[in-house]
Amino acid sequence: MNTSPDLLIVGAGPSGIITAERAASLLGLTSVLIDRRNHIGGNCYDTAFANGQLIHRYGPHYFRTDNDAIVAYLSKFTGWLPARYVVRALYNNELYPLPVNLTTLEKFYRTAHTPESAEALLASEREDIADPRNSEEVVLSRVGRKLYEAFYVGYTLKQWNKHPRELDASVCGRVAVRFNRNDAYVDHKHQVMPRDGYTRMFEKMLDNKNIELRLQTSYREINEAVTPRVATIYTGPIDEYFHYRMGKLPWRSLKFEFRVSPREWVQPCVQINYPWDYDYTRTVEIKHVTQEKRRDSVVSFEYPTDQGEPYYPVPAGENHRLYQNYLALAQEETKNKRVFFLGRLAQYTYLDMDDSMERAMALIPAIRNLL
Ligand SMILES: Cc1cc2nc3c(=O)[nH]c(=O)nc-3n(C[C@H](O)[C@H](O)[C@H](O)COP(=O)(O)OP(=O)(O)OC[C@H]3O[C@@H](n4cnc5c(N)ncnc54)[C@H](O)[C@@H]3O)c2cc1C
Repeated sequence: MNTSPDLLIVGAGPSGIITAERAASLLGLTSVLIDRRNHIGGNCYDTAFANGQLIHRYGPHYFRTDNDAIVAYLSKFTGWLPARYVVRALYNNELYPLPVNLTTLEKFYRTAHTPESAEALLASEREDIADPRNSEEVVLSRVGRKLYEAFYVGYTLKQWNKHPRELDASVCGRVAVRFNRNDAYVDHKHQVMPRDGYTRMFEKMLDNKNIELRLQTSYREINEAVTPRVATIYTGPIDEYFHYRMGKLPWRSLKFEFRVSPREWVQPCVQINYPWDYDYTRTVEIKHVTQEKRRDSVVSFEYPTDQGEPYYPVPAGENHRLYQNYLALAQEETKNKRVFFLGRLAQYTYLDMDDSMERAMALIPAIRNLL
């Protein structure tokens, strides 16, 4: 191993990989890129299941962005499949489109509507909360109590083991409502899937003589042995970096169960949410977006838990304060030791893939300034 690369990059998820690739291609810098897992890609890792089908090992990853530059950049390493992300929620044995649209409203209220009458209906259901302070208030102010109780309370309780009242407004803050029949999960300009999967795309990014990859290697193991000449980019958990000296930041985790079905299709769309039924929150049949032609199909079941890999930061007041304390330490570390904290684990924030990638790219000028 190169013990004096320009950069030591901790974590081979999107944040670490894009930093390594951009630093190599734009600045000609060498990196040692490590990950304690036995694969690259972080939580975007996809791999063949026992039956040979491509699965998303850490939950479905729907690539969606409004950022043309990110798509242009990634297109150097992958082709794309157009993707349609469609989500339904099971309530009282019926499936309803999510986010709430005209069809959801008609089915739920059992009356036909025009866009105008649906808008009037929802206006009469909404609660008048000018400045929502938590997730319950956000949803009540957007869709009213009946839809809140049908689709949001149960799901949130299962997902977070907390009542929506205990969670920041941001958790349910993106409650979209449509007065048309568009049933796409998101509105982004680009909704695509890497043609051969995320892992293959990342492998191509790392196919660069300036990047040395070390898997099954943790920061603690090599921290003393490797002295980067320019900077360290750390994308692991921020509290772990500081040996939890101020306490542990809480994370919500998931247990994934994958089941192969002999049927070609198991469910009508890629994702079904279960606000009230079962212990799992959602089932995902990823074939709907990876578009593999096969006669069997793998479905994943997600069980939320407090144990296991850190997946979602828990957005509640005291956790923000704890993170702010770590952030102050991190800023000192950047100033004194040139350690940059990047990505969802180091910045204790939920980031979609495109956000993580944007942040990694935005770090390159700061690295350049050190040269
Ligand atoms: C269940 C789930 C579903 C998601 N779905 C979507 C989606 O549909 N669309 C979307 O845009 N985004 C989605 N995301 C978000 C996406 O996963 C993140 O944006 C992205 O993975 C962030 O990249 P990252 O490199 O910052 O972190 P990660 O992908 O978590 O990578 C961090 C890497 O660092 C390694 N690491 C940590 N600490 C150390 C250490 N001390 N030493 C060595 N290695 C270390 C870890 O092993 C990991 O591989 C989802 C996230 C989750 C959890």
